[in-house]
Amino acid sequence: METESVLMQTLCVPCACRCRYCLLSWDGKTTGVAWERSVRFAEKFKERFLEERPGLGFSFSFGYSMEHPDLKGALRVLKKIGSPQAGFLQCDGMCMRNEKECGELMDMLSSEGAGQLNFTFYGLERYHDAFAGRKGEFANILRMMKAASEKGLELSSGIALTSENADQIDRLIDILNKTAELSRIFLFIPHEEGRGASIADIRFTEEDEKKLSGESLALLNREIFKTEGEWIREGFPVETKRTLIISLSEDNMERYESMDPLDIVKEIESLDEAYYGSFPSLEELAKAYGDPKGKRYYRQRDLFSCYRKVYAAEHGVSVYDVTDERQSGSRRY
Ligand code: SF4
Repeated sequence: METESVLMQTLCVPCACRCRYCLLSWDGKTTGVAWERSVRFAEKFKERFLEERPGLGFSFSFGYSMEHPDLKGALRVLKKIGSPQAGFLQCDGMCMRNEKECGELMDMLSSEGAGQLNFTFYGLERYHDAFAGRKGEFANILRMMKAASEKGLELSSGIALTSENADQIDRLIDILNKTAELSRIFLFIPHEEGRGASIADIRFTEEDEKKLSGESLALLNREIFKTEGEWIREGFPVETKRTLIISLSEDNMERYESMDPLDIVKEIESLDEAYYGSFPSLEELAKAYGDPKGKRYYRQRDLFSCYRKVYAAEHGVSVYDVTDERQSGSRRY
């Protein structure tokens, strides 16, 4: 398994939503180390890390939301460090802004040369607000999109597709296209990680396809999202690479600050090996638990994760979970 890059993050910025499927299980309490301390650490880490392992990627990001108290300064830091987050801003869960305030925010983002702004939708207004756990969120992100479009910023929108919202998608896409100039709208099937486990029973299925038009369904990338049956019949691409995630928290920061960056990398690589070494391969798990006629849609990573959960419960596997993106770990691909 080849480590291709390191993604360092600090989850120090609150989010105003409580999405039903939140990967980071955001519950109102930040877990990341304060911004300034994280930046100092990231800069030093990057220098030493790239000195020893040139050619590897390094990026630094913050969450839970983009509502950083000094967003302009934060964007400058991200650009200086060379973080892709500066070029792709996920604009969900930010403060409520009226039209004027949205315009001011977009003016600032435009003058800072922000890249693409991305907005996630869960359905039409009432459904979206309920899913996001915040009344007014739908109208707020539409206002932001409209303002961004007027300032000529590049926009994209992702729509979480489930069996519960499938009949809302055509209308939703129409609203988005009428609100702003979007460079891209795409559908995606939500994961079951973090709080996403709670929406397992509304996973999109082949039967749900008829609830939306063929034109809308074409916005789902069928190379990435397939039914369980399709995955099993067509086979799984082998994962050979990984990104390591270093999540800076009050629990690990002091220890990380006392370590050589390369030892942190080695430590997380070992955690990754130990985790995946505790489970059979995806092919073996699919043979044991898979349904070759399965009609539910998955991304490969999510299907693998579902099988591992069943295996772990059956075999009593208890191992540090490198796929829990609130903590340091890895993402294989
Ligand atoms: S906007 Fe993102 S971080 Fe906030 S609750 Fe929703 S999924 Fe979680």
